[in-house]
Amino acid sequence: MEEVLPPIDPGNLRDYHDIYGAFNWSMLEREFDWSKGGIYNVAAEAVDRHGRDRSDRVAIHSVRANGEVRSLTFREMSRFSSQFADGLLRMGISRGDRVFVYLDRRSELFVSIIGIVKMGGIACPFFSALGPEAVKDRLQDGTPAAVVTSPYLQERISTVLKEVTPSPRVICVGEDVPQGAVPYSKVLASGSPEMKAADMRPDDPYIIHYTSGSTGKPKGIVLPHRAMLQQFSGAKYVADLREDDVYWCTADPGWVTGTSMGMFGPWYLGSTIISYEGRFDARAWYSLMDRFKVNVWFTAPTALRMLMKAGDTLVKEFDLSALRQVCSAGEPLNPHVVRWGMDVLGKRIHDNWWQTETGAPCISNFRCMDIRPGSMGRPVPGVVAKVVDGNGTELPSGKEGFLALRPGWPSMMVGIWGSEDRYREYFRIPGWYVSGDQAYMDSDGYIWFLGRADDVIKTSGERLGPFEVESALIEHPAVAESAVVGKPDELRGEIVKAFIVLRPGNEPSERLREDITNFVRVRLAYYAYPREIEFVEALPKTRSGKIMRRVLKAKEGGQELGDLSMLED
Ligand code: ATP
Ligand code: MG
Repeated sequence: MEEVLPPIDPGNLRDYHDIYGAFNWSMLEREFDWSKGGIYNVAAEAVDRHGRDRSDRVAIHSVRANGEVRSLTFREMSRFSSQFADGLLRMGISRGDRVFVYLDRRSELFVSIIGIVKMGGIACPFFSALGPEAVKDRLQDGTPAAVVTSPYLQERISTVLKEVTPSPRVICVGEDVPQGAVPYSKVLASGSPEMKAADMRPDDPYIIHYTSGSTGKPKGIVLPHRAMLQQFSGAKYVADLREDDVYWCTADPGWVTGTSMGMFGPWYLGSTIISYEGRFDARAWYSLMDRFKVNVWFTAPTALRMLMKAGDTLVKEFDLSALRQVCSAGEPLNPHVVRWGMDVLGKRIHDNWWQTETGAPCISNFRCMDIRPGSMGRPVPGVVAKVVDGNGTELPSGKEGFLALRPGWPSMMVGIWGSEDRYREYFRIPGWYVSGDQAYMDSDGYIWFLGRADDVIKTSGERLGPFEVESALIEHPAVAESAVVGKPDELRGEIVKAFIVLRPGNEPSERLREDITNFVRVRLAYYAYPREIEFVEALPKTRSGKIMRRVLKAKEGGQELGDLSMLED
């Protein structure tokens, strides 16, 4: 029988088919202040509204890398971000200007983003681990009026800042502000805490997020204020947030997950969010969930695999009894990881699919549904997602093709910054937005990810997604992580090649290689088992933690490695 994890309780989305059938985005409008005559601005809805109505509730517990905590109530978040917004205006920054934010995960990062958006600017946050080259690309592309950063980060990009024209103003958080930069504290002090958010139109952009760079040079995705509708649905139905929840999304606000599902979505619902400045560390992560009694946790497959690698006993030292809902997005979630969630966390992990371009979750597993491990779930209410061929014809269930969406969901990008052509590319099949991923749908409407279109392997006349091979490999007890690519081969077109990171306590050997091969051979189609296995210390990953298969593939094929600005150290 097919493996399913039955629902535990219905959650906020009580019945998938009922709600999907009757759903209309306008049903969510009444959740927002603007529908009652308020201002149309994501910052006003996320923060200012609660600053009035639930002012003493904590908006954020911001945990520094050294464990210190700075907590801000919604009243404080509302007032500080107004001061910052007004301070920006007084500096001569105007509506529609881009303001970049290059900061570690600390409270000022969140205040800055909300402040920029509040004054009608376009926030452009990026991950503080990015190096000077990646920052330079973005500065040249986005031509910001100002950059909010900190002394040590400014130092890192000082040369770059001199090279770009027009050169942006620099706002610096903290002490020892370098010459020429404006202290963040001064911007705050110059602004009024009473400043009201700018009234925007639904199509006006509020943020630019650069994509992860898994397939090439990152694209600057422009998202509109209207996205609030779908971020709300993401927080309510996908994350299943409830009144008074404490919520932790582990994504950095430099990535779309870190804002849509990390700040805005949960804040529309008035949840308290946790932010952790430190890097991944299994003990620190579990202890954070224990310390703040996290109810809802949103993370990614890479992080879950790293927790698995840390062993199954560590978690027992912590009290995670407050945890009710676990979600994962950003990469395919292997069935083995879902099983681990049940065994070790005692929780179903709800995989959901989306992209920077889609602005919010589009396909998801919901609390009210069976989970079929390995499937991304079903389209969220209000989104039409199908598997189509090159002409846009819907394919029958089980048939592999392009994962496509009907344009018009609220959080859909409104452009790619500086590239109309690249934007149009997504709509090359009439009537569809083409995601660039390959998938199939089963007869119950569950969607199964195969791989990115570029990663699909053509071997012995068959097409094969790397995901199923990787998922089989990590079921072997010695395998912690794997990446599978097609390696050019005269006879077969391509052969399946696997790169494997072993779990601690295992050494590469010929015997292990054979053992792993035999282990997966019986689990996969005859052409799908890896004919080559290479043991590696680590896999190439993007800064957002995604496996960069294209780098491995290019190496195997002896090609140029392409844009590597997003490669982790
Ligand atoms: P780039 O577009 O620069 O190459 P990227 O596609 O990795 O990078 P993102 O927008 O961060 O940038 O990621 C979206 C992609 O991540 C999707 O197209 C898909 O390939 C993958 N993805 C996201 N969620 C899931 C999921 N739940 N299951 C499988 N894949 C997923
Ligand atoms: Mg992409």
